[in-house]
Amino acid sequence: EDINVDVAVIGAGGAGLSAAVQANELGAKVVVVEKMAMVGGNTVRAAGGLNATETALQKAKGTKDSVEIMYFDTMKGGHWLNDPALVRTLAEKSASSVDWLLAHGGDLRDVGLMAGATFPRTHRPTGGALVGPEVVRTLYTAAKAEKIDIRTNTQATKILTDKTGRVTGIQVKDKNGTYTIHSKAVVNAAGGFGANNELVSKYVPRLKGFATTNHPGATGDGLLLAEKIGANLIQMDQIQTHPTVVPKVGEMITEAVRGNGAILVNKEGKRFFNELQTRDAVSAAILKQKDGIAYLFFDSDMQKSLKATNGYIKQPYCLTGATLDEIAGKMGVPAADLKATMDAWKAGKAANKDAFGRADMPRDLDKGPFYAIAVTPAVHHTMGGIKIDPLTQVYNVKGQVIPGFFAAGEVTGGVHGGNRLGGNAQADIVTFGRIAGQQAFIFARQLD
Ligand code: ADP
Repeated sequence: EDINVDVAVIGAGGAGLSAAVQANELGAKVVVVEKMAMVGGNTVRAAGGLNATETALQKAKGTKDSVEIMYFDTMKGGHWLNDPALVRTLAEKSASSVDWLLAHGGDLRDVGLMAGATFPRTHRPTGGALVGPEVVRTLYTAAKAEKIDIRTNTQATKILTDKTGRVTGIQVKDKNGTYTIHSKAVVNAAGGFGANNELVSKYVPRLKGFATTNHPGATGDGLLLAEKIGANLIQMDQIQTHPTVVPKVGEMITEAVRGNGAILVNKEGKRFFNELQTRDAVSAAILKQKDGIAYLFFDSDMQKSLKATNGYIKQPYCLTGATLDEIAGKMGVPAADLKATMDAWKAGKAANKDAFGRADMPRDLDKGPFYAIAVTPAVHHTMGGIKIDPLTQVYNVKGQVIPGFFAAGEVTGGVHGGNRLGGNAQADIVTFGRIAGQQAFIFARQLD
């Protein structure tokens, strides 16, 4: 049945929930549609933290971080392809995003250092809990307490415009059929397209066949719906990948595992590539192996050298064997071939001349127990998307604002440029989600 609201929000991930709560608290009548059965999107999978600078929590630690330094780190991390105005807003508003989550009952009280940051600025729950579930829990709890109308299993299928090009609502589909949500403003927070390999490989052909760490709803609907009404999509070929992700589980195995000495072995028990080559080259090499997977293989010496592996070896996806025979059996590779591979590795190391040209061979890899983790390359984050300005207004291909249309989160492009720093996605979705909620409220108000 058709309904009338002030603000319609597409997507109930971190950006959409932030927008909805913010707009509702300002006094707008809000509805959120979420195509999946549950809220959270990719946000709930985030493991790192939320980057913010000049927060009270950070100052209490005595760090010298500042808006200027977070700006610099983010631009540098993004290879200077980011939209400077968006990055400035990201850094300037980051502290208020943390305050806002804390005021809504969130716990982000542990401040730590992540890659690419000059000073510790990533805010995360205490006690080692993951940031994504905490952000989603906080916002969803607030949304429910405020009785915001969140409709799961409801997919936006069209963005509606009037003759002047102003956005007037959305068409949605649920199990009972199609209806219209008439609204004065629309916030597009439908997330990225990492789980849509057709779209991914359309923009970056070499990523064809890549798995993904994303939730299955990350299919780029929000981008395609916006494109249909003329929105400008920018930097769509800026896609973050990871060479070693556990198939189906989606967990990324840190590259430090190879750095500290692990090798890659295929299903024939053979090495096939220089493990320390670039991400792209290693990814392509893995995809050429049987079933498009390889095993990260290491011994107990290497395991003890890297804290990050303490967690991995407890997981069901990590195979363990006291001897090469035992681990070969678990990997389903011929033991004789695995032994030959390890003998060749050791001989190459002794001669300082690796058959695959690997320069750094820190370990013999001959101390049991042995470990093997099946991995495959995967798409992690799509940095490109809808062109917005710091007020989250959406621009069309002619460079004009599309009135009544706002976008925030992974569906947008420009915040992260050519590479997203860990911890910046959470900052992005909360900061720009809130701004989108404010702007949608203001836009709706001036139509009254
Ligand atoms: P962000 O991090 O930007 O908030 P998320 O991936 O966390 O992005 O959330 C985006 C949400 O939007 C997901 O829950 C996804 O299922 C939802 N979504 C995607 N396409 C649609 C659509 N067409 N209609 C409704 N919800 C959608």
